[in-house]
Amino acid sequence: MTQATVVAAIQAVGEAIIAQKQFLTDLDAAIGDADHGINMARGFEQVIAKLSAATNEIGATLKLVGMTLISTVGGASGPLYGTAFLRAAAASQGKTNLDRHTAQAMFAAAVNGIKERGKATSGDKTMLDALEPALAAFADAIAAGKSLPACLDAACTAAYGGVEYTKTIPAAKGRASYLGERSIGHQDPGATSSYLMLKALADFCR
Ligand code: ADP
Ligand code: MG
Ligand code: MG
Repeated sequence: MTQATVVAAIQAVGEAIIAQKQFLTDLDAAIGDADHGINMARGFEQVIAKLSAATNEIGATLKLVGMTLISTVGGASGPLYGTAFLRAAAASQGKTNLDRHTAQAMFAAAVNGIKERGKATSGDKTMLDALEPALAAFADAIAAGKSLPACLDAACTAAYGGVEYTKTIPAAKGRASYLGERSIGHQDPGATSSYLMLKALADFCR
């Protein structure tokens, strides 16, 4: 995957998030403060606007995405997703063409960045409930020698399962944790946006 492909992929991810702005906001209305879709769409609109000017290497492009998300998304999700892209940028190690193993290292670094920054773990009803199983499924698929689209499909299926799982548990981190047991029955907005981003990436790479 070249820098031009990475730019097009991020554009596709951003468009998918913008298209689901109302859905993500409605999910956040149930257990948060009704702004997740608004936050994410605002961030990705800025990302897409800046991408057209990006003629750098992959790491610089991902760094631009991370910095833009941190400065424009706000809320809990902005610094977390921003950190994820910054860590992925660092893990891309100046590569000008991403292979599957570098992609796996970037995905792992992104998820670790979210864990370090947010101090959450699986089962807290956050984006990590989608991302951690997705990363594990992605790594398994890479180890099994599957193609990048097949690895991303496996990651999406696992992320979707994680979103469904968030319906069954109370939130232990973020605003939804203020609701305690009353957050059960609702899917987590951040887990949902993580799934939607992976789905857009998988569809793009297909
Ligand atoms: P805010 O809650 O500040 O309004 P958003 O609505 O944009 O921010 O994002 C909420 C999402 O952020 C949650 O659905 C959850 O997935 C995620 N989140 C919140 N706190 C954490 C955390 N500590 N670690 C990981 N994800 C978190
Ligand atoms: Mg919110
Ligand atoms: Mg908010």
